[in-house]
Amino acid sequence: MSLPESLVQSLKQIKGFDEASFRAVHQSGEQVTSIRFNPAKYNGESVSDLLNTETDGQVPWCSEAYYLKSRPSFTADPLFHAGVYYVQDASSMILKEALKQSVELSQPLKLLDLCAAPGGKSTLIQSVISAESLLVSNEVIKTRVNVLCENISKWGAANVIVTQNDPHDFQRLGPYFDVVVVDAPCSGSGLFRKDPSAIEEWSESHVDLCGQRQQRILADILPALKPGGVLIYSTCSYSEAEDEEMVDWLLDREDIESISFDLDAEWNIMGTVSTKHNGYGYRFFPDRLRGEGFFLAAFRKTGTAEMTQSSHRYKKRNDRLNAADQQLLKPYLKLPEQYFFIKQQESVIAMPIHLEDDLQALQANLYIRKAGVKLGSIMHAELIPDHELALSVMLADDTQTLQLDKPDALQYLRKETISVQTELRGWALVRYLQFPLGWVKILPNRINNYYPAHWRILNK
Ligand code: SAM
Repeated sequence: MSLPESLVQSLKQIKGFDEASFRAVHQSGEQVTSIRFNPAKYNGESVSDLLNTETDGQVPWCSEAYYLKSRPSFTADPLFHAGVYYVQDASSMILKEALKQSVELSQPLKLLDLCAAPGGKSTLIQSVISAESLLVSNEVIKTRVNVLCENISKWGAANVIVTQNDPHDFQRLGPYFDVVVVDAPCSGSGLFRKDPSAIEEWSESHVDLCGQRQQRILADILPALKPGGVLIYSTCSYSEAEDEEMVDWLLDREDIESISFDLDAEWNIMGTVSTKHNGYGYRFFPDRLRGEGFFLAAFRKTGTAEMTQSSHRYKKRNDRLNAADQQLLKPYLKLPEQYFFIKQQESVIAMPIHLEDDLQALQANLYIRKAGVKLGSIMHAELIPDHELALSVMLADDTQTLQLDKPDALQYLRKETISVQTELRGWALVRYLQFPLGWVKILPNRINNYYPAHWRILNK
């Protein structure tokens, strides 16, 4: 692997950068695989037993995450489709520690993940915030929103809204968010080891373009951050122009201050300081730790934060589900009293009750692609359950279940016919081990497979 020489030369000025080991780790061809468990679905015990792959220790800065000794076929693992874990580079998981150290996570917060697809940071954020908090997960590129929605659906939480907006659009909300995460589009040098073809696309002029775009994104989104709120900025680029120089660019503003973290020295994350304003940044080099190249810095907007109560009172919605239809949902839900239900065309959507005003505020100002959990549609006084409900943590534990072994579970995920003997009739949740995969409708002579066609796995 031949690294861009101008990049390597530019890194030499970073204190602690070790050129020889940096080159060696890129030459080695070593691949690091890590997964992060969904704490709402699995507590992470006996991980090696659960996966048919040996683990290789915990990710030091994220207790729900593990390294794997080899990379299995995730597509052929039903747990992957059940949202039990997310495959994510370990370095990115430092976001958990950054949030823990800069924000009071037990509070009801409003958080925005501005550049969210495919959803790695969003699923992590959702796992560390309180149930009373709201995560807005945004992706501006239309073709990337579907995969984001899919990953959020798999994660199963009801306190997430997916939007598809340009960063500038969020200014319509005024200072609204307690936390904004900008995992910026970047020149991607940190991922060279995983994707050597990215080396061809790398150039200094692309780094410059990325820097300009990052400034635009940050300038556009800062008005949506409350005074006292926290901005977390990250890239998977090694270039100072996208990292420390962006820290200095932000600190040129009088209302932004840098946040430092207390990180275990054994993690080998390299703390850096920007040239102009001595702002803190954290660099991940793959020759120093088990993870890809990554940079993270955090900031506080000065001023006093109001609490997250919305000042605007909205009119009562007119798309609330009527009481009779709500009765149809109850058998499917664990704690129905904690949600409000709205009907959009035939679909019924549930969100936590305390987020009703937020949904209205966002609906009035943004393009919402998904809100809360789609429970299904009501037809002829019956709920046709939606796939999102199957994967949601709202689902009642005693839902009628068709238990499948692994070969049948994979058959189900391919949306093929499953022929297991059962006395059950009607709608049933398909589970592999204890984990829901989706719905079937069991008729006397066959089992109809309701796995979403566009999610089905294609390999044999
Ligand atoms: N946070 C994601 C995760 O952890 O899975 C990865 C995000 S990726 C580094 C950057 C994202 O920014 C991409 O999904 C890209 O489509 C989006 N993006 C591209 N141009 C953008 C822009 N001008 N404003 C906001 N987001 C943009």
